[in-house]
Amino acid sequence: MAGIYIHVPFCKKKCLYCDFYSIGTSSKISQYPILIEKELSLRKNFIANQRIDTIYFGGGTPSQLEPLQIDYMLKSISKEFYISHDTEITIEVNPDDISEELLQGYRLAGVNRISIGIQSFIDDELLFLGRRHNAQAAEQSVILALNNGFKNISIDLIYGLPNSSIDSWRYSLEKAFSLNIKHLSCYHLTYEEGTVFGRRLKNKKIEEIDESISIQQFDLLRELSIKTGFTQYEISNLAKENYHSRHNTSYWQGISYLGLGPAAHSYNGDKREWNSSSYNDWAQGIESEKPALEYEILDEQTKFNELLLTHLRTIWGLNLLSLKKDFNKTLVNQMLKSAEPYLKTGKLSIVDDCLRIPSKYLFTSDGIIGELIQIDD
Ligand code: SF4
Repeated sequence: MAGIYIHVPFCKKKCLYCDFYSIGTSSKISQYPILIEKELSLRKNFIANQRIDTIYFGGGTPSQLEPLQIDYMLKSISKEFYISHDTEITIEVNPDDISEELLQGYRLAGVNRISIGIQSFIDDELLFLGRRHNAQAAEQSVILALNNGFKNISIDLIYGLPNSSIDSWRYSLEKAFSLNIKHLSCYHLTYEEGTVFGRRLKNKKIEEIDESISIQQFDLLRELSIKTGFTQYEISNLAKENYHSRHNTSYWQGISYLGLGPAAHSYNGDKREWNSSSYNDWAQGIESEKPALEYEILDEQTKFNELLLTHLRTIWGLNLLSLKKDFNKTLVNQMLKSAEPYLKTGKLSIVDDCLRIPSKYLFTSDGIIGELIQIDD
């Protein structure tokens, strides 16, 4: 079982907080599906002979592509791999790109899951983030997707905005839960170097939210999700029963995936590859049949640490029996020793041979996992 990720790097406008690789919309868009087809045929052996369980068009802004272009890439994939009617095929869309025609076209192409970049249902917050849409367009986009036959709809929200409050976060969450969505991804605002927000923070033009408010917003997310029948299956991801994102889950469960497009990453259990973050270098590499990418062969310790980083952020946790079977005793024992203080305070628990961070402590999971990571002296 494996996944395919296609990074669509085109954005009409750069959002102020965003550090995803993107470039403006340009004539490059028309050539994109052909380059992806070529890259696929050059790099398909990375996940050779595996059934494709998920295909994900992420970005950037995939909804800058026409349905025919999505159809072209899906057909290219199906020439190389087996795609069943059950394969999860997701496209990320921006609310103000959505139209009935676009949605119908994506559905006809085979897309069966839509992920809408809503971020907030409050106009002032959307303006602050530098988003192109307003709150009304956000709500309308979900309704339009539902009316055009998409049952599996996910939306993204951002919390922890400066000047946001518990009440403003409650408003966006209640609006989200009132719509017939099946999946919700909620990310805390981060200030990445190289972004406008990163610079504004450095120059003291904006201030980070007080951590106590962030924690209360996270707790509110947990409280409302339980009331509305969502399960928080990972620190930032919640879903109705049977609607976990297979794409995201495959990352956390160590399933192989092939990433296509500039800046896309790939993983197959033993090796990680990452494509050049320059569109031109990436495109030239594909044209000359020498993909512009770097790679890392994963040693045992790196694999072990990656397993901690991914599994402990989920409700499924880390299966200790598999860990003991797959890794050397010293690594496992050292990690369990580091876990002892957290097991005593309840910030870690062992249930059914799985090491887990109880959901109320997930917000602080980075700190806990950081203590368990094994680094050579
Ligand atoms: S947040 Fe999305 S739409 Fe905004 S710049 Fe980043 S990738 Fe583009």
